[in-house]
Amino acid sequence: MPDDHSNVAPGLPALHTTLAAILGPENVHDDAQSLDLHSADIWSRGTATAALIAAPGSLEELSRTLAAITASGFNVAPRGAGMSYTGGYIPSLPNTVSLDMRRMNRVLSVRPDDMVVTVEGGCTWQALNAALAPHGLRTPFWGPMSGLMSTIGGGLSQLNAMFGAGHYGTSSESVVALTVALPNGQILRTGASRPAAEGAEKLPFYRHYGPDIAGLFCGDCGVFGIKAEITLRLIRAPAHEGYASFSFPTGESMLTALAEIARAGLASESCAFDPGLTRVRMRRASLAGDVKTLGAVAAREKSWLQGALTAFRVVRGGRNFIPDDGYPLHLVFEGRSATGVAEDVAAARRIALKEGGQEIENTIAKVIRAQPFPPLNSVLGPEGERWAPIHGHVALSQAPALFTAIQAVFAAFAPRFSQAGISTGYLFTHLETNAITVEPVFYWPEERFAVHAKAAEPSHLARLPVLPANPTATALVREARNEVQAVFTRFGCAHFQIGRTYPYLTSLNPAALALVENLKTHLDPEGVLNPGVLGLGAPL
Ligand SMILES: Cc1cc2nc3c(=O)[nH]c(=O)nc-3n(C[C@H](O)[C@H](O)[C@H](O)COP(=O)(O)OP(=O)(O)OC[C@H]3O[C@@H](n4cnc5c(N)ncnc54)[C@H](O)[C@@H]3O)c2cc1C
Repeated sequence: MPDDHSNVAPGLPALHTTLAAILGPENVHDDAQSLDLHSADIWSRGTATAALIAAPGSLEELSRTLAAITASGFNVAPRGAGMSYTGGYIPSLPNTVSLDMRRMNRVLSVRPDDMVVTVEGGCTWQALNAALAPHGLRTPFWGPMSGLMSTIGGGLSQLNAMFGAGHYGTSSESVVALTVALPNGQILRTGASRPAAEGAEKLPFYRHYGPDIAGLFCGDCGVFGIKAEITLRLIRAPAHEGYASFSFPTGESMLTALAEIARAGLASESCAFDPGLTRVRMRRASLAGDVKTLGAVAAREKSWLQGALTAFRVVRGGRNFIPDDGYPLHLVFEGRSATGVAEDVAAARRIALKEGGQEIENTIAKVIRAQPFPPLNSVLGPEGERWAPIHGHVALSQAPALFTAIQAVFAAFAPRFSQAGISTGYLFTHLETNAITVEPVFYWPEERFAVHAKAAEPSHLARLPVLPANPTATALVREARNEVQAVFTRFGCAHFQIGRTYPYLTSLNPAALALVENLKTHLDPEGVLNPGVLGLGAPL
């Protein structure tokens, strides 16, 4: 029973008993510490505390769990690893069960003959990549930087940028089929399936047969159903990689170059920073981290000699290879042949130099590939400050102007930021041949939540000061976030990780809005799944 008995919702003890019978008592939690962990994300606390946490271990358990919660009149907040920051899984109403998907973490099958892999929704990107590596296979989009902990179900629910996104787009572009559990326990399957052995479930192999039903559940932030099993497309892991880094005098010139590199389809992923974020990253990196990183970079080379030479170059490059006031752009290339990759690197170099870029050591580009899923220590700043990004996907032609507009917002806030100890930075990346992600990031002195302690390594946490609550600074960050959001809206930006933060519904025309609202009513008639998320159904 909960530590605090004063606030027990009616029906909770009975629901607890039912769920314990379905899942085993060890998979239903209501201790204050766990409820606290599930009631705040990386940015904010929910307006309510979760009543219970239920962790199903299979599709059948998930289906029965959902049916029991819905029948009891409770709400459901699905949670993967909890590595998001837009209010997507935190409770907005007191009678909410947090659905912990991390027990459904298996890679169910790798089928090289059909070039598909099937995982459970709570499987991490790290576990997926580890299972595929021995086959020489990969998914086209193969993970966000949080992939050590973050789940594929969470990633598809709010979409992802990063590894492979330059060539193949976001996580949902790789989906072949989904098995979705609906709030009444019903199981919905998407995609074309081929016959399997006598008596066995048919095997999905292709996404498209009529309207794209899987697509409806991608980016839904869990409001339409729970992704229980996910089948993703495979590709052969590219045999050759290339790296290049450039520093630009302004954000605008860097974004002009990145847009042209995106149009030309050259880089499999990109990662760019402003001088503010470069300073933070350099302050955070530790000597122990450097040694580990060096080992990982060297290990990727095809011979020990090449590895040693690369490690030498990384050391020589050190941390001081980026001009202090520059905008570094790090690019990774991949392909079937060394010549093809070299041609892509050369083409990107021509674009970068034309836009005023200066070539710098490609250390960071190499490190990004060598350690794609590092420990999630960046959930806090180098002095233990809180960290919160906000992002917009902008049309290629508009990226420089968007950056200029956000800079103007930050310039207006500068005196108040400086007084409150708030600093900002930017991260940029591209999505296929169509969009650039602009991600302003805030750092400010504020107390940490349980989720921060869960994400970062204990040894890293131990080095950071514990800061006191600072609602004044947080209110100022919120005000600035809102103003940046207004700029994103002015530029018609799209967003991943919509949660309870980005104004999705108002971006839709009336016919599209009616479709989304009717879908919600059809799939979740009681409105129990993540009320308020996407702006659907209940309190924000
Ligand atoms: C250090 C750090 C680095 C990051 N780097 C990246 C990056 O490179 N690229 C990027 O795109 N993002 C990044 N993120 C953001 C975030 O980690 C990703 O969006 C990630 O995919 C979230 O996955 P999760 O399992 O933690 O989902 P959660 O945060 O637990 O949930 C996300 C949303 O999905 C819903 N949900 C979760 N599981 C399911 C399910 N099985 N069925 C239905 N709904 C579900 C939740 O209700 C919620 O609305 C980063 C975050 C951190 C902290």
